[in-house]
Amino acid sequence: MDKFILALDQGTTSSRAAIFNRQGRILALAKQEFPQIYPRPGWVEHNPLDIWKSQLASCRSALKMADLKPEQIAAIGITNQRETTVLWERDTGKPVYNAIVWQCRRTAEYCEKLIGNGQESLIRNKTGLLPDPYFSASKIRWILDNVPGLQDRALKGEICFGTIDSWLLFNLTGNHLTDPSNASRTMLFNIRTGKWDRELLKLFDIPVQILPEIKPSSGLFGHTAKGLLGVEIPICSVIGDQQAALFGQCCFTPGSAKSTYGTGCFTLVNTGKTPVASKNRLLTTVAWDLGDGLEYALEGAVFVGGAVIQWLRDEMKLIKAAAESEKLAHSVKNSGGVYVVPAFVGLGAPYWNPNARGSILGLTRGTNPAHIARAALESIAFQCADLISAFESDIGGKIELLRADGGAAANAFLMQFQADLLDIPLELPSVPETTALGAAYLAGLHTGYWKDQAEISANWIPVERFVSRMKPEERRRMTANWHKAVNATLSFLPE
Ligand code: ADP
Repeated sequence: MDKFILALDQGTTSSRAAIFNRQGRILALAKQEFPQIYPRPGWVEHNPLDIWKSQLASCRSALKMADLKPEQIAAIGITNQRETTVLWERDTGKPVYNAIVWQCRRTAEYCEKLIGNGQESLIRNKTGLLPDPYFSASKIRWILDNVPGLQDRALKGEICFGTIDSWLLFNLTGNHLTDPSNASRTMLFNIRTGKWDRELLKLFDIPVQILPEIKPSSGLFGHTAKGLLGVEIPICSVIGDQQAALFGQCCFTPGSAKSTYGTGCFTLVNTGKTPVASKNRLLTTVAWDLGDGLEYALEGAVFVGGAVIQWLRDEMKLIKAAAESEKLAHSVKNSGGVYVVPAFVGLGAPYWNPNARGSILGLTRGTNPAHIARAALESIAFQCADLISAFESDIGGKIELLRADGGAAANAFLMQFQADLLDIPLELPSVPETTALGAAYLAGLHTGYWKDQAEISANWIPVERFVSRMKPEERRRMTANWHKAVNATLSFLPE
């Protein structure tokens, strides 16, 4: 009887389940969307039960689609949207409040106070993160403050906290566990000691009793309860989504990097067993623990990546579908000197300016929609190139190759321009589901389904490779102009 690995990929807008074979190919992929809840401007919540039900339903449909018996699943891996925070009752498993999603800005003021009180360097040194509502700690604080009596119940050990991995695990197995890649996004985890940090718990006044136990990302997390999928299946990996994509792209050695071109872009570089402190306001994060200690990555995020193409489509009405942007960009020789800086929600690393707003610069009487579309696509690549140069400055070496994935990686104009700008080869994987694949690999490594990382690397086959065709002088000129455009954008502070 052939065996397979099932990966649960719990994302921000949908819960997916994918089944992989030994070659790392997909047999079936099922997906179920769930509602987004926006109680106020800037607030984002999910109903934790929607997350659990949609995840379980997609697992069941994937098994059906692949026409497999549950006995044929050798192991399960879990990957998930990171930082999103759930608190539930230990006895009943009932959530005490909706999940506060990573995007939610409700604790912005609280985080500004932390900075005002001089806590930034403590937080940075211990966690590798910047004080920001994005991470879990301030979200936990908010729930403990806003659900009556909850702090007391938490102190009595009646309440569990978890990121989405822990929430799913609790429902699947009854165990209250997490892994270091997820823990490293809570702002309560010390990335140097590999443990929850007492000083940080005190700073946020969070009772230690609510925290899950931390296990290596590749290892046994328990078995699924029998009634859920038919038989008890071992869960053998847990990893945050971006780190999972880094693993799924086989970026195993220090200096290897991947960039995911989705709504936003997430670029990570493996830094091996050393946490590298960033001088460029990048995040230092745990990549994974394979059971022999923590491995680390540097991470940078672009807030508006593929979203700039959605804007061209939905607001500017320049295109009807995202894919049309490629043809439109190719219809002109160049962007005609136009630069789009899509700072719609501020600028992320390495600029970190929440107040910046977008701009289009360099307009002439001859500027047409194609120039703007081309400049918008180029802006995605410029922003990622800024991250790559920040990585290079932090690690004191050159990134030699970039592996790309995500919805916008389907755009060959964008990929070519990215390779042109970086002057390094850019490769696309034959299996685009790198996040689910990473979780599957980590689970299969633990059970011996895959022997070692070398065997996994051999599965990685590029479906396309882009190399630079740009002249150095052109690269220098365009990069310099992009930085001028960013500076002009940052200097525009309307009253
Ligand atoms: P996420 O996982 O963040 O929801 P996806 O990886 O599914 O995102 O990618 C969706 C994003 O990619 C959208 O912002 C969309 O505008 C962009 N996108 C999809 N296809 C293309 C394309 N051919 N060219 C440019 N952008 C694209």
